[in-house]
Amino acid sequence: MDNGIKKCDGAQEVDHHQTPRNMTIKGILGLLMANVDADDKRRVISLGMGDPSAYSCFHTTAVAEQAVADTLSSQKFNGYAPTVGLPQTRTAIAEYLSCDLPYKLSPDDAFVTAGCTQAIDVALTILARPGVNILLPRPGFPIYELCAAFRNLEVRHFDLIPEKGWEVDLDAVESLADSNTVAMVIINPGNPCGNVYTYQHLKKIAETAKRLKFIVIADEVYGHLAFGDNTFVPMGVFGSIVPILTLGSLSKRWIVPGWRLGWFVINDPCSTFKNPKVIERIKKYFDICGGPATFIQAAVPHILQQTEEVFFTKTINTLKQTADICCNKIKEIHCITCPHKPQGSMAVMVKLNLSLLKGISDDIDFCFKLAKEESVIILPGIAVGMENWVRITFAVDPSSLEEALGRVKCFYQRHSYRQTEC
Ligand SMILES: *Cc1c(COP(=O)(O)O)cnc(C)c1O
Repeated sequence: MDNGIKKCDGAQEVDHHQTPRNMTIKGILGLLMANVDADDKRRVISLGMGDPSAYSCFHTTAVAEQAVADTLSSQKFNGYAPTVGLPQTRTAIAEYLSCDLPYKLSPDDAFVTAGCTQAIDVALTILARPGVNILLPRPGFPIYELCAAFRNLEVRHFDLIPEKGWEVDLDAVESLADSNTVAMVIINPGNPCGNVYTYQHLKKIAETAKRLKFIVIADEVYGHLAFGDNTFVPMGVFGSIVPILTLGSLSKRWIVPGWRLGWFVINDPCSTFKNPKVIERIKKYFDICGGPATFIQAAVPHILQQTEEVFFTKTINTLKQTADICCNKIKEIHCITCPHKPQGSMAVMVKLNLSLLKGISDDIDFCFKLAKEESVIILPGIAVGMENWVRITFAVDPSSLEEALGRVKCFYQRHSYRQTEC
């Protein structure tokens, strides 16, 4: 297409030939949804998206709903907020995160964003300069690749190691990094793997980043959603070793992804990264961002301070239960194996054994045929960087999850070389 208009490289790369290999998660899930057999009388069950808000067992707390209703009806928050966020919102976010840190964040360290997605965009945009590169995890969260492509930021991938609880392959980080590496990204608790990293592993990541002279972007959108042996440790704990950009939001812990309330926070108690020029640049970028609605921002102090512990406990217990169901059911389906039981977040990576399946060529084929024959949606691993794996989201109500995995089992039995009755 030559219309004389100079093309944006990033955008072009992304839009070119929409195949499942270079589409967003939402795009692929849309295609899978369209592949469902309209004559199938059963309901469609999606284990594809990390948005459990539709299920009553994952309903947000009344405290949050009331807080938003109050700020909306107060008529005080119908105007613009400062582009970096309302002062009371920044203060509340700084205090919320400081509870788990050995130092105190200042309200100036916290910026309010439209969900964690915009925080990702801010981080990558601020760091992008000609010639620099960023290290991203594989498997990972495709918004990072998409965003990097738009910013002409070179991406290098390091592997997460399934046998080691999806820990970062630090040797790979070491060999990928050079003097133009500006940052590495970790997602903890992890999507798509369900990993929760130990204090020791996070400390090693911080020390590696310090030695190689780049900062760490810590995507903690699933912060505190940990239900296994390892407790959640925020990466900001190591902020005095190396500067950390902490990205988060209300979306997952409060189960309100549609509220679009997130944060971009600079954990840098030694002020090695945040100098006046960097802060100025960040503020300028926020001037063109357009953050979340003012009344949602205004509700944040109440939400962060007043949410009852029992709401969090209930969510954690439900996720623990559904993660257990998921792992137990998977054991009955021999063509998929789970190398590491999820300890947090809402998803798990599962390996496909194609040699047990007749007429299935890869993960994409598996997911498309599964959608067509069983009305179950699962994300092909290629969408998160791992071919012939699939990602299963277990933030689904227990009975739907059991039913969906029961259908996957039938699908397997039908396509297995050793056909058995379903
Ligand atoms: C859901 C998710 C996000 C996006 O969060 P929003 O607040 O909905 O924008 C970012 N990172 C990861 C790893 C996620 O799973």
